[in-house]
Order: sequence, then structure tokens, then C-alpha cells
Amino acid sequence: MIYLTLLIGGACLGSFVNVVAWRLPREESVVWPGSHCPKCGHAVRWHDNVPVLSWILLQGRCRDCHQGISSRYPWVEAMSAILWLSAFWGHGFLASQDDHGLALLNLVAGVVLISVLLPLVLIDIDHLWLPEPLCRIGTFLGIAFTGVLYLVIPWPEASPFLLNHLLAASAGLLALEGLSALAERILGQPALGLGDAKLAAVAGAWLGLGGVWIALAIAVFSGALFGTIGRLSGRLGPRQPFPFGPFIAIGIWLTWLAGSEWWISRWMRLFGVI
Ligand SMILES: [Zn+2]
Repeated sequence: MIYLTLLIGGACLGSFVNVVAWRLPREESVVWPGSHCPKCGHAVRWHDNVPVLSWILLQGRCRDCHQGISSRYPWVEAMSAILWLSAFWGHGFLASQDDHGLALLNLVAGVVLISVLLPLVLIDIDHLWLPEPLCRIGTFLGIAFTGVLYLVIPWPEASPFLLNHLLAASAGLLALEGLSALAERILGQPALGLGDAKLAAVAGAWLGLGGVWIALAIAVFSGALFGTIGRLSGRLGPRQPFPFGPFIAIGIWLTWLAGSEWWISRWMRLFGVI
């Protein structure tokens, strides 16, 4: 039952994320008017607006003008559904999932975190831009959930929590600003945007000091790997920029899912420390 709820909720959120990713950069309202075909302007009927299924039933074409609808829409919806489901196993704030109340809070937090990251990733891919309001909301929500946790957990255990996450948000911001200045000096051109630093603040707000550097390490490593393969294979031009936000988002989500201890033990084994 909970799996089904997560899948359906995730698919519906994915549908909304598609709207946000299209409209927010165009400075259009995300709630009004309702969905319409971008080619003929016809409003989408409610029964043609079911995530994933409608696209398949309509065979990827608008019911009115029969022009193609991008397959990105159902893919984002399916991806969002799977990510919501994965939040169920998210390690997140928890060391153990014995406490049901905490487990539920953790699940809700994971779902909210995914819902903030997805539109940022899509907009960065489309426009090489991470909108500041979304990053600010993401940072605020991370701190807010940490604050709720602070209220739920008995005091002495939780007391350093909130400060830890606040510090981590600033550390993430500063770390990426430093990295950006360093990369610019080495490469002779801007390599990271200010938006990337703001997304690093989101990472800190959610993951705390123990997790923020792991998320950023995964981001830098996977981003560098992508850039190298892209340039060697000729798919990316020698100076062609590519969005870094998706890699930070991947780092955040992988750290959230597995927990920082898991990553540290893996890396130690990899480098032969233990
Ligand atoms: Zn149409």
C-alpha cells in the first residue's frame, strides 16, 4: 500500500515538475492556467493528464492537433515515481529505523528533498541555471526538517544537530565558491556557476557536516568523469560548458540513501585503509 502511494505520488509530482521546469524559466505562473498543448494551445483534458499512462495511450501525440509530445514528460514522471519509492529506503537522518515516527519523518523528508532537487536538475540541464528561489527554499526546508528532528529526539542527543546543519550549509557554499575560483584560475574560464554553490548549501542543510563533503566529492568525481568521457568521445566540445547541478543532486541523493558511514567505509576499503 505504501509502495503504491509513493509510486503514484511520485508520478504526480513528476508531472508537476515538468510544468515547473518549463514555466519557471519563462517567468510563467506554475499554477495557472492549467496544462495545455504547447503547439496548439488546447487545454489538456483531465483524463489525458494521467502521468505516464496518458502519454502511452495517446502514443505520444496531442489529442487535438496530433503533433508529437516529448517523451521526456513520461520519463520524468517515471523517474520521479522511482525516486519517491527509493526514499523509503533512505538512510537520511536516521541511524536506525526502529522508531516508526522517526522513520515516517525520514520518509517525508526524503520525498520533499527529491521534489526540490528534480526541478533544479531539469532547469539546469535546459538552461545551465539553478534558480536562486528554489535553492533558497531547498536550504530552508533542510534546516526546517532538521529543526523538527531536534524537537522529536530527546534533547542531549540532538542538541548539536541544528548548528551542525547550519554550519554545513555555509561550508558547502564556501567550498564550492573556493572550488569555482580555483577551477577558473586553472582553466582560464569560469567552470562553476554561483548556482552550484547555492545547491551545495542545500546539500549542507540536509546532510550536515558529516554528509555535505561526501555529496560534493561524489559530485566532483562524477562530474569530472562525465566531462572527460564527453570531451574524449567528442560529444562535448573542448570548451563547451555542461551543467554541474545534476551531479551535485546525484551526490546529495546517494548520500541521503546510503548514509555517510556507508560511503566512508566503502572508500576506506577502496584505498586499503581497513
Ligand atoms: Zn496540440
